[in-house]
Amino acid sequence: MDSFDTIVVGGGFKSVAAAWALARQGQSVALVEQGPKIGGFLSPIHWDGYWIDKGPQFFDNFEPSDAEMIEDMIGPDVMQDIGFEYGSYMAGHLNSDFAIPDWQSLGDDVAVEAFEALFAQRLEEKGKPPEFANFDDVLRHDGGPVLYPRLRELTRKFIRRDPEEVSPRTRSMVSYLGRKKLFDQDISLDLKKSAFMDSFLAARKVSVDSARVNLYPKGDSLERVRRALEDALDRAGVTVLTETSLDVFDAETGTARGSGAEIGFGRVIFGTDIRETERILTGGTTIAERTHVLPEIFHCFVVPAESVVAPYYVVDYDTGHLSSRITNFLNYMGCVDHEGYGVICVEEPVDLNDAHWSDPEAHIDRIFSEARETGAVSAESYRKAKSFRVPATYKFPLVGIEAAVETFFERMDARFGDKIVLPDPYALTRKEAIDDLRRLGILS
Ligand SMILES: Cc1cc2nc3c(=O)[nH]c(=O)nc-3n(C[C@H](O)[C@H](O)[C@H](O)COP(=O)(O)OP(=O)(O)OC[C@H]3O[C@@H](n4cnc5c(N)ncnc54)[C@H](O)[C@@H]3O)c2cc1C
Repeated sequence: MDSFDTIVVGGGFKSVAAAWALARQGQSVALVEQGPKIGGFLSPIHWDGYWIDKGPQFFDNFEPSDAEMIEDMIGPDVMQDIGFEYGSYMAGHLNSDFAIPDWQSLGDDVAVEAFEALFAQRLEEKGKPPEFANFDDVLRHDGGPVLYPRLRELTRKFIRRDPEEVSPRTRSMVSYLGRKKLFDQDISLDLKKSAFMDSFLAARKVSVDSARVNLYPKGDSLERVRRALEDALDRAGVTVLTETSLDVFDAETGTARGSGAEIGFGRVIFGTDIRETERILTGGTTIAERTHVLPEIFHCFVVPAESVVAPYYVVDYDTGHLSSRITNFLNYMGCVDHEGYGVICVEEPVDLNDAHWSDPEAHIDRIFSEARETGAVSAESYRKAKSFRVPATYKFPLVGIEAAVETFFERMDARFGDKIVLPDPYALTRKEAIDDLRRLGILS
């Protein structure tokens, strides 16, 4: 039986970073991935000669030390800082400076009314926001009486659940909460001089810390990164076991078994999603039952490159639209062919029992006309299109998840002690994953 100081379960970015770091520290490490190759969600879709990432999947908000770590891992020529360029669409207006909703597009009277209500509400709280029992409470607080009904509609569109069912911690996973665009740039900047108003008003680029970078393999897809991660594991001497899953872990003997493999371990790091980790270790589904896993259809259209506008992506806040985001891969991926055509990708959040899920291409022309309506693409028609179903995208925590996670962590601590490591189950982005691996002492 082969034995390793550490087994890392999962082959996504978080697991690869953990395995690579520990191997470089001199540990013997096995990485166990159930699929045929490593990469996890960053593995692109390969269609008709194009590599298509699953939405805009940036290595964003990285600090210089994170960027150095990535360069150390995958080499200096794979990623570069592509900056931040995004847009939003609401009430017939395309805004190319913000990914957040442009509430001004509902009319200055609505924006002023929303501002006045929020101002009065925040003054009353005197800096002490109320406790939130569910996401609906968050929406009431964040939007005030004017914007609250619209935030409810956006929640139905983007999360596809009623906000009362959703945990307040979902706040950090959506782009329509937080600082609000209510006024023109100059007025916003003026008002934001007050720290009090800065906390709920937005202005262009002011909230983006210039020390942060957004890494991407410019002119290429994340397949380039995926391959570089494979090489990094190879160079660091990590044993990669694909098409392998382990389901029995014995802390006393330090052995793990499953799908024909038996491996000895000093400790095990679970880089799998918390719901999968619970299933592996207990067979239970208490955390899964308190999660809404959002399925999305990714509609890809081949269009003339010149017909696509600049922002990397446009978030579509029109609640009459099916689409939630239009990603323009042409600006930062090698998606333009020799005839000058490239790919845009429109995400549509759906329910699994929705007719759209069973027949994703049935309404493809409606999706394309929505994209045209936003102004993100001007071509009258597309040359080719294909819809891909992605059953698990964002995993939204529902009310009650915290208690389920806490109980699971306590039970696992009693059973395994420091023989297993369970990363932060709520870390969403790659930046958060890196920070968490540092907190756990895995990355330096
Ligand atoms: C549409 C979308 C856009 C996003 N955009 C961004 C963005 O711009 N920036 C950002 O930082 N983040 C973004 N994210 C989040 C990003 O996807 C995550 O940060 C990242 O995928 C997390 O990587 P991971 O390694 O934790 O998980 P994953 O990439 O999901 O990897 C988990 C791996 O574990 C494997 N596995 C599962 N079960 C087992 C098992 N039993 N045994 C062995 N292996 C198993 C899976 O096959 C998979 O390879 C986005 C997410 C979505 C859905």
